[in-house]
Amino acid sequence: DPHPAVRVARDGDLAAWWHEPGPDDDKYTRGVVGVAAGSEQYPGAAVLATSGALAGPAGYVRYAGTAAEYVRRRHPEVVCTQEVKEAGRVQAWLAGPGFGTDEASLTELRHVLESPAPVVLDADALTLIGEYPSVLTQREAPVVLTPHDREYERLYGSAPAEDRGAAAAALAKRLNCTVLLKGHHTVVASSDGEVWANPTGRPQLATAGSGDVLAGFMASLLASGMSGTRAAVAAAYLHGRAGGIAATGHRTITATDVAKALPQAVGETLSA
Ligand code: AMP
Ligand code: MG
Repeated sequence: DPHPAVRVARDGDLAAWWHEPGPDDDKYTRGVVGVAAGSEQYPGAAVLATSGALAGPAGYVRYAGTAAEYVRRRHPEVVCTQEVKEAGRVQAWLAGPGFGTDEASLTELRHVLESPAPVVLDADALTLIGEYPSVLTQREAPVVLTPHDREYERLYGSAPAEDRGAAAAALAKRLNCTVLLKGHHTVVASSDGEVWANPTGRPQLATAGSGDVLAGFMASLLASGMSGTRAAVAAAYLHGRAGGIAATGHRTITATDVAKALPQAVGETLSA
């Protein structure tokens, strides 16, 4: 049983947090999300992370990286550049999926973290901050880390404790970030000790690229103005629900199916 201090998100929380566009909004005021992901070796991560970002509430998705050719072909909506510094004004960044851990990736990660925007760090960005923890210090804008258990272990130095909420909270406090610890029991912890358990999802979500979709979607929620912890809680909730929609009538799903089911997951959750 979850610890009594652990909160569980409900449809009503999501409806209260979601920023619905009004008549005075345009694509910029709805939020510009930047995705720094993918590489020549892993172009698919860029495609899937931008798929997640496009399913969110932000009005504009920009991509910065070396997989631009692939992103453009799959998503004509996404504006692509090679480098983070060329991406212009961005309200929230995702960095890391399929990104690489070489010198060039580290430079791009630094540029993301130097921006005044909230950021989601996933996958290779988590490896890089484990090696260069100083890149995270003195940041005012929110940072959300989205490790699975092995990424958590690399960052924290030991495997997550059996109490996953406490495990996420310990890392969140240490790095002064929001931590979303992924897996069968996904939990979110804020740096000040708030802990949420995610009630949605299913084991079929354990499929390559699924985390990239989650991270891109989360960055869109951040770009729309949601706080770091709410964006993490809401993204896990809706991603899990999208997995359920995608799996209806099927035994297997792909990360692309999850991204395609996200708008329906949002619609069902907000109209409940
Ligand atoms: P990643 O490890 O980055 O590919 O992300 C995997 C995604 O699948 C995350 O959203 C996890 O929470 C989810 N996931 C992985 N394993 C399970 C599981 N056994 N049950 C439910 N969700 C899972
Ligand atoms: Mg991953």
